Amino acid sequence: MKKHILTYLSSLILSASALAHGNVELGPNGGRILEFSKNESMHGEVIFKDNQFHIALLDKDMKPAALADQELTATSGERAKPEKLVVEKKDGKFIVPAVKAGDWIIFQYKENAKAKAITARLQYDPTICGACKGPEWLCKCAAKEGKGK
Ligand SMILES: [Zn+2]
Repeated sequence: MKKHILTYLSSLILSASALAHGNVELGPNGGRILEFSKNESMHGEVIFKDNQFHIALLDKDMKPAALADQELTATSGERAKPEKLVVEKKDGKFIVPAVKAGDWIIFQYKENAKAKAITARLQYDPTICGACKGPEWLCKCAAKEGKGK
């Protein structure tokens, strides 16, 4: 019986984390945090500036990490017709061109060319949230209940 309960609990936890994309985590510069590791040791902080996404690397303590051999690819567009975005490296950040409002971006991050890719995704929703006055993709109240729109 105990085993059943444990199985049930772990499936609950799994489904909770599968839904966690609605739970926006913001970084030290107000950007959106993406998980770029399996153990919270590397993050990306996404900021939208000059019609581009600027993605800075942050270590496990959310301190800036140097951009060297890391690689990033970004894909957007329709599921049936995904479009690869041109990712550049500039001033220690990855630069990704803007996408249409509401589009998802799928990122594939690699520590170096030989490393296994980590997938992170975000939906670019620039609609302004009535509660925090920030764009939805950076909404601070997503985690809270009774979010006012
Ligand atoms: Zn909000």
